[in-house]
Amino acid sequence: MIVLKFGGSSVADAACMRQVAFLVGAALPRSPLVVLSAMGKTTNGLFDAAKAAEAGDLPLALERHRALLAAHRKAAVELFDGNPPEALEAAIADLFGELELLLKGVGMLRELSPRSMDAIASLGERLSTRIFAACMEGVWVDARTVMRTDAVFGEGAPQPEAVRELAALHLAPHLGPGRAVVTQGYIGATENGLTTTLGRGGSDYSAALFGAALGAEEVQIWTDVEGVLTCDPRIVPEALPISDLSFAEAAELAAFGAKVLHPATIQPAVEAGIPVTVRHTQKPEGRFTTISAEVQTGRPITALASRGPVTVLTVSSSRMLAQSGFLARLFEVFGRREVSVDLVATAEVSVSLTVEADVPLKALLQDLAVFAKVEVHEGRAIIAAVGERLKSTPGVGAQLLSSLGDINVEMISMGANEINLSLVVKQESTSEALRRLHRVLVGSTP
Ligand code: ADP
Ligand code: ASP
Ligand code: MG
Repeated sequence: MIVLKFGGSSVADAACMRQVAFLVGAALPRSPLVVLSAMGKTTNGLFDAAKAAEAGDLPLALERHRALLAAHRKAAVELFDGNPPEALEAAIADLFGELELLLKGVGMLRELSPRSMDAIASLGERLSTRIFAACMEGVWVDARTVMRTDAVFGEGAPQPEAVRELAALHLAPHLGPGRAVVTQGYIGATENGLTTTLGRGGSDYSAALFGAALGAEEVQIWTDVEGVLTCDPRIVPEALPISDLSFAEAAELAAFGAKVLHPATIQPAVEAGIPVTVRHTQKPEGRFTTISAEVQTGRPITALASRGPVTVLTVSSSRMLAQSGFLARLFEVFGRREVSVDLVATAEVSVSLTVEADVPLKALLQDLAVFAKVEVHEGRAIIAAVGERLKSTPGVGAQLLSSLGDINVEMISMGANEINLSLVVKQESTSEALRRLHRVLVGSTP
């Protein structure tokens, strides 16, 4: 069997869904599991509605509700040439009834917990899959009966063992040649049946988890670009599709900001040895990327990615740095505050590290002040240059720095797997830095 995952832009309206139906139709002999995102920007719309309700603006929340309802009804009507099946109309009405209740509840309490947010956010995928399953006359499966997660709402961690067992029970029996089984990305449920989500962009992760649980031949991620490109095309328009990527390269790129894949997507696929391909829904005959175990690309740097804002902390302690145990003490503070550290660079008298911009900085600084001096630089970004051949190509680092010209590099770190060279620059220089690096290091060779 294969898994086909379609992102929000691929199912944005009836015309898009028709194209998806065409692609799924072509895959029917391969016993497809179709994993869908919410239509277009529906998830953002649901977040906006929930926040309006929380802020006490119920009329605005209900206005958003009406707009979403209209868009979903319109898609259903158009897909069925004016005559959607009654059961589909009833399902849409039910789901929007549920949304209205949830929004009114949030509005009444003026409280939006991550748990309530997940219940609201889940409606996007539940709606898109209902409409698409009806259009394909496929089997609709509620992903919450399979995607078991812990109870961390908003960022549920899937439990792969349970997912495997539940997939065998609730998905496998429906799969077969000639039939499309349709389920939701992004959403899951706890052991007690409470709705959770895997975090924004989590549908890719769902697809990989379902693929691993079912022993898929391939996981296809269908989106609005011809695969993983050498850089974010919104920043570097001349970015080119990459035909082959290693699991390690793809994982680094996703972790360092390449939005095309959710950062956790690759891990289940690696463990199960399943190739992941990334393809363009509107250009199925075009180029695409295959991500698999061992790939040697032709150039030292395969692609660039960036993530920001991050905060750089430079910690120094003339007294303690040379003594054993300093780093242990330093990282103990981050561990205790549950702050994860991204890049680390050490010098004789100081240690620099990067953390996300939204960490509890005040508390961290208080703890660190007990034994060290700390300099804080906010508004920075990490640029990652990723490539399997980075480690075996002399001179790349020098070329990288010189191509940046007058853009100041504040920190450099080579990842332990030696396929990621990361630089820290001021956030406002990120785009220009990426363009300069791309021109020199990735260039125009395919
Ligand atoms: P979907 O809705 O299908 O999940 P996303 O919007 O999450 O799609 O991801 C696709 C988008 O990721 C592209 O439209 C592109 O703008 C962006 N992107 C960022 N970096 C890259 C990259 N290196 N390669 C391809 N796309 C990228
Ligand atoms: N619909 C969810 C989001 O917009 C999940 C996804 O599309 O991957 O974040
Ligand atoms: Mg996505």
